Amino acid sequence: MAAHQEKKPSEERKHKSTQNDTRTSQVQWGRAWEVDWFSLASILFLLMFAPLIVYYFIMSCDQYQCSLIDPLVDLLTGNKHLSDIWNKTPTLTYRAAGIYTLWVSFQVVLYVFIPDFCHKFLPGYVGGVQEGAVTPAGVVNKYEINGLQAWIITHALWFANAYYFHWFSPTIIFDNWIPLLWCANVLGYAVSTFAMIKSYFFPTNAKDCKFTGNFFYDYMMGIEFNPRIGKWFDFKLFFNGRPGIVAWTLINLSYAAKQQELYGQVTNSMILVNVLQGIYVLDFFWNEAWYLKTIDICHDHFGWYLGWGDCVWLPYLYTLQGLYLVYHPVQLCTANATGILMLGLIGYYIFRMTNHQKDLFRRTNGNCKIWGKKPEYIECSYMSVDGTKYYSKLMTSGFWGWARHFNYTGDLMGSLAYCLTCGFEHILPYFYIVYMTILLTHRCIRDEHRCFSKYGKDWKRYTAAVPYRLIPGIF
Ligand code: NDP
Repeated sequence: MAAHQEKKPSEERKHKSTQNDTRTSQVQWGRAWEVDWFSLASILFLLMFAPLIVYYFIMSCDQYQCSLIDPLVDLLTGNKHLSDIWNKTPTLTYRAAGIYTLWVSFQVVLYVFIPDFCHKFLPGYVGGVQEGAVTPAGVVNKYEINGLQAWIITHALWFANAYYFHWFSPTIIFDNWIPLLWCANVLGYAVSTFAMIKSYFFPTNAKDCKFTGNFFYDYMMGIEFNPRIGKWFDFKLFFNGRPGIVAWTLINLSYAAKQQELYGQVTNSMILVNVLQGIYVLDFFWNEAWYLKTIDICHDHFGWYLGWGDCVWLPYLYTLQGLYLVYHPVQLCTANATGILMLGLIGYYIFRMTNHQKDLFRRTNGNCKIWGKKPEYIECSYMSVDGTKYYSKLMTSGFWGWARHFNYTGDLMGSLAYCLTCGFEHILPYFYIVYMTILLTHRCIRDEHRCFSKYGKDWKRYTAAVPYRLIPGIF
C-alpha cells in the first residue's frame, strides 16, 4: 500500500481544524493551481512547436537521410523553400487511415473486452483488477491490468503474419510512416480536446478536476485526473501503454524488416536496438500494476501532454534509432556491441532494481529486506482535499539512499545505450538521450516540488538524509 489512512475519526477532525490554518499548501498537492509565466511560456512553446519538431525529425530522415542540418542549410541558403519540402511530404492516405483505425480499434478491444488471463499462469506477474494510488480527492480507482496480454497477442499476430499468413508486409509501418503520423496527430488532438470538454461537462470525478483558469495550461496539463468512459476505459492507462508502447516494439520490428528488404541483412546495431528497447517495453507491461503508482498515472492530469504525447511524440521520437538505422545501417565491431549491450543491461538493472526496491518497500509498508537488511526510512504525513490525514514512508536505504531518483539514472544509462548503437555520424539518434535528460531532470524537480507541497517538513528531513538527486556527489 502506498499510504495508509488514519482510521480514528476524532483525531481526523482534530487534525482538519488545525491543518486548515497552518499547512494549506499540503491540502493542494497534485498538479499546480497557479500558472507562472515560465510554465505558460514553455507550454505555449510546446503546443506550437512539438508537432513541428516531430515532423522535422521524420521529414529529415525521409528527405535528407536523417541529417538535421541539411534541411536548415537548404532553407537558409534559399536552395529550397518550405513549400518544396512540404510538397515532397507524403500526405494522409486512405490506406494509412485504415491501418491506424484498425490498429487503435484492435487495442481498444484488447484493453476493454479481454480480461487478463496471464496472471493465471505466469508466476510473479500481477494482472487482472488492481487498485491505483489514492487521488488528491481520496478516491482509489480500480484498473484492469491486461497490457502484457495485449502485447503478447499483438506480437503473436505480427509474427504469425510475417512468417505464415503474409496478409501484409512486415515493413508496413515504415512504408506508411508519414501518412500514419497525420493519423496519430488526429487522434492525439481529438483525445486531448475531448478530455478538455469532458472535464467541463461530464467529469468522471469532479473533485479531482483542477482548473487553473488558464486555457492553454489546462489544455496542455489536463483538468481531469482520471477521465474514464464507463467503468473500465481509463484514458491514462490506455493511452500511456497502448497504442504507443505496444507499438514501440512493432515499429522497431518493421524497421528491422526494412533493413532486411533493403540490404539483405539486419545489422547487429538494429538487433541491439530491438533487444534493449524490447526489454524496456516488456518490463513496462510486466510491471503495469506497479506503473499505476508512478507519476504519470498517480499525479499527472490527462491533457495534451499525455494524450498527444502518447499518440505522437512517444511512437515517433522514441523509435528514432531504428529509423536512423534503416537509412544508415551500422555494423558495430564486437567490442563496441558488447560495451553497448553491457551499458544497456546495467542501466536496465539499476532502473528495475531501484523501482523494485520502492515498490517492495511501499507494498510491505517497510516490512521487507533491502540488500539483506531492514530498510531505513523517514515517517511522513499528508492531507487529502477533504482533510483526511494519511501516513507514508520515504525510504533512505538501497538505491534510494544513494540518490533520490536513481531509477532515472538507470533509465538514462539505457537511453544512452540505444543512441550509441547508431555511431557518431549524425546527431539525430542522440535526440533521445538529450530529451530523456531534460525530461527526467525536469521530472525530478517537478516531483520534488509536489512532494514538498505534499509532505512539507518531512520532505525536508528526507532531502537532508539523501542530498543528491541523480548522481551521488554531483547532482
Ligand atoms: P518514481 O518512481 O521515482 O516515483 C516518484 C514518487 O515516489 C514520488 O512522487 C513519491 O510519491 C515516491 N517516493 C519518492 N521518494 C521515495 C522514497 N525514498 N521512498 C518511497 N517513495 C518515494 O518516479 P516516476 O513515476 O516518474 O518514474 C517511474 C519510472 O518510470 C522511473 O524509473 C522512470 O525512469 C520511468 N519513466 C520513464 C519515462 C519514459 O518516457 N521512458 C517517463 C517517465 C518515467 P509518493 O507521493 O507516493 O510519496
